[in-house]
Amino acid sequence: MKHLFFGGIHPKYNKEMSTGITEFLTVTPKTVVIPLQQHIGAPCTPLVRVGDRVLRGQKIGDGEGLCVPVHASVSGTVVAIEPRPHTNGRMVNAIVIENDMRDDTVELKGNTTPLAQLDDDTILHAVREAGIVGMGGAAFPGNVKALSAMGHVDTLIANACECEPYITADDSLLRTDAKHVLEGMEILRHVLRPERAVLAVEDNKTEAIAKVKQLLQEHPDIELVVLPTMYPQGSEKQLIQAVTRREVLPGKLPVSVGCAVFNVSTFAAIYRAVRLGMPLIQRIVTVSGEAIAQPQNFIVRIGTPFHDLIEVAGGLHDATERVISGGPMMGFAQSDLQVPVVKATNSILCLLKDRNGAAENPVCLRCGKCVAVCPMRLQPLYMYRFTNAGRIDELKRLNIFDCMECGSCAFTCPGKLPLVETFRKGKAMVREANAK
Ligand code: SF4
Ligand code: SF4
Repeated sequence: MKHLFFGGIHPKYNKEMSTGITEFLTVTPKTVVIPLQQHIGAPCTPLVRVGDRVLRGQKIGDGEGLCVPVHASVSGTVVAIEPRPHTNGRMVNAIVIENDMRDDTVELKGNTTPLAQLDDDTILHAVREAGIVGMGGAAFPGNVKALSAMGHVDTLIANACECEPYITADDSLLRTDAKHVLEGMEILRHVLRPERAVLAVEDNKTEAIAKVKQLLQEHPDIELVVLPTMYPQGSEKQLIQAVTRREVLPGKLPVSVGCAVFNVSTFAAIYRAVRLGMPLIQRIVTVSGEAIAQPQNFIVRIGTPFHDLIEVAGGLHDATERVISGGPMMGFAQSDLQVPVVKATNSILCLLKDRNGAAENPVCLRCGKCVAVCPMRLQPLYMYRFTNAGRIDELKRLNIFDCMECGSCAFTCPGKLPLVETFRKGKAMVREANAK
């Protein structure tokens, strides 16, 4: 198969498990937990108090600097503002709302001005006020990313690769609502004025591709690029290489090679923010894996506890070993199923056994397979060895912070070494040493 970026692997994708049901189930939880930090940057300060009544779509937290607001995803009463478990593994201050099941909604002010007459500030303000972040997992504030790309990019890429096994949320979005993804692309194209606007998708999403092709007649300036399926093509740097042949250097951002990449769900959210005035209060989440009774996609209110979704999907198998937020390669195992869906949650994965389990007595065979598949051109076997030996200077020399923890090395390692966990430890050691 044609190789469009360095390294990469072909795991078993298991996407068919959750693509069978095309009717989304809108889940309405009794209580939602809205963390005041769902983005990279500074946390929000609450704008409401315990006992307040809130409306669906109401801004309930905001802050200064690198920060976007959070909103109530249901109408109801604020019953607590306190630290709650977050999918990132930490306790994060959150606003807890008891749902009154009325869905009383704030007055939404969409902007119907023709795009050619819409100014950049109006669009970026709407994106910020809607609390939009990168919905592919990065959670970087959307308005800040767009602002930093203005005047510096010639290529805008909509990322529909969704290369992690099991996850089909973006695929489902394109199959059911590609129109609004393309409208969102037009809005950012208007702000960034790139020479190329590309919707990039992997070739395993045939129905989504057909849907987009149908609609592209109305969007002649948007190009559809179908890429051969390969992991981790959905990572920004690998996608840029696959689409443009440009390589983002270690430590640099996509803008350094004239590119801006946004997830397709983010584009749909941008459309809703600008045209409907609707904040980011719900998203599509895949619930899948061998340990869940009825894998499927849901439209989910932000703040819905994982537990509620798992119940609606038929519950967990008795032999469930792990529940992961995200995919099997880069996701995070969850110990508390009361954690809420946040803006960047694209999947809840329920597994029977550790698919990439480490051996009891792992031994490096020095086969070099990990080096061959690492998309960041790193040397995982040496990073592993030097982390275990505590050799900080060597870890810095090997650019351990360029590791994006994609898990390709661990997947391919015949010695079953716990590579990614070790690199996380290695990075923490370097950070600690730098702090001293
Ligand atoms: S793939 Fe595993 S066994 Fe082979 S060199 Fe890398 S770490 Fe060692
Ligand atoms: S986890 Fe890190 S070292 Fe391993 S393949 Fe991915 S980027 Fe390379």
